[in-house]
Amino acid sequence: RKSSPAQTEFYQAAEEVLECLRPLFQRSPHYHDHNIIERIVEPERQIMFRVCWTDDDGKVRVNKGYRVQFNSALGPYKGGLRFHSSVTSGTIKFLGFEQIFKNALTGLPIGGGKGGSDFDPKGKSDGEIMRFCQSFMTELHRHIGPTTDVPAGDIGVGAREIGYMYGQYKRLTGRYEGVLTGKGLNWGGSLARKEATGYGAVYFAQSMLEARGESIEGKTCLVSGAGNVATYTIEKLYELGARPITCSDSRGTIHDSNGIDLELLKELKEVKRASLEEYLAKHPEASYIPASNYPEDGHAVWRIKADAAFPSATQNELTVADARALLDNGITCISEGANMPSTADAVDLFLEARIAYGPGKAANAGGVATSQLEMAQNSGMEQWPLDKVDVKLKEIMANVHKQCADTAQEFGEPTNLVLGANIAGFRRVADAMIDQGVV
Ligand code: NDP
Repeated sequence: RKSSPAQTEFYQAAEEVLECLRPLFQRSPHYHDHNIIERIVEPERQIMFRVCWTDDDGKVRVNKGYRVQFNSALGPYKGGLRFHSSVTSGTIKFLGFEQIFKNALTGLPIGGGKGGSDFDPKGKSDGEIMRFCQSFMTELHRHIGPTTDVPAGDIGVGAREIGYMYGQYKRLTGRYEGVLTGKGLNWGGSLARKEATGYGAVYFAQSMLEARGESIEGKTCLVSGAGNVATYTIEKLYELGARPITCSDSRGTIHDSNGIDLELLKELKEVKRASLEEYLAKHPEASYIPASNYPEDGHAVWRIKADAAFPSATQNELTVADARALLDNGITCISEGANMPSTADAVDLFLEARIAYGPGKAANAGGVATSQLEMAQNSGMEQWPLDKVDVKLKEIMANVHKQCADTAQEFGEPTNLVLGANIAGFRRVADAMIDQGVV
């Protein structure tokens, strides 16, 4: 049932999952008897609220705030907050839906949720960001808690925003508890959380390649995005002997065939919050392709020849024409750090070509998995050493890959990790829902 044009991303995400479930329902008709499909596509709760704040000129500004608490069959709702001008209730619903299956694949006790706002952090002062975050949390705090719903970061929400929101939560409730993840390291954060999604996407690529007798070492890689996920994808690619040659932001793409200068990228994006165009000041030999010069039917970053690709910016950033260009250029591995970055047609091409293709809900699960490790550390009032968290992250990613690959094999399509991820994630949630009765 598609009834709202404002929910196209949600329908896209739901259609992919439901298509993959056909063979499961043929084998296990009891899921029909429990009407699991109709139940799972309906969020348990959706909260929408007004966020008023004052800008530096004293003008009152208003944004929309959202939290969707989609499914709690496996544990407290868990999923990030996105602050971006493009955010609508449909965006948050699609992200929350994906989150249910991703969280299930981690094997950890976490349900699915997501939230955010159409607030645009670009060009805002620290004071404006703080006042917005405080106002956002003033409403959100009523709906979250360390055993009910634990938000984290996403696009536009990093350590600074988590800090401001945590401070306001504490002021309002008087409680110092693990209600948000992605916290600062000296006040409850987990080592390796910042790096986890990017590192995890590379571990997932490594698992896919190892299963084919290959390795990421020596591979030339395309990365899109220049934020949290892209930066730590690039860092781990270097550590494993690969060569990342691109990154991008909303204004343009950098192509540096010598390999992206990671320290400069961090300086530009984490410290200065500047445009990537400034990369050229230090590396005039690199090229910068402004978004106005992208091909009409896609994104410049995917037209560059490479062995592996890591889409790490946003949804639908890789079109069918981009997929064709990647395949024509001999791509062998795609691991999605972003959520649903490839359009449905692009995914079909990757599956037909039987390349190593890791869909976002599996390949980027390392972030939320490490968030759950942060929750575990908070509830035990502990801080684990870096190697303990990283070893667990590696194990979790290897296990996510194994579940997807084993399930794909079980259903007769061994290279189809989209099928494997959707069936394995769904089964865990659906079985818990059945055990818990009609609620
Ligand atoms: P950041 O805000 O840190 O970075 C996002 C990057 O993508 C920026 O470079 C941004 O450019 C670019 N970008 C965002 N929206 C667009 C757009 N509409 N068009 C072009 N470029 C865009 O976010 P993250 O790195 O945290 O998130 C990236 C992706 O990874 C998202 O899909 C997110 O849902 C997913 N993800 C993130 C996790 C995490 O732990 N952070 C966990 C799992 C998935 P600019 O700076 O110019 O806006």
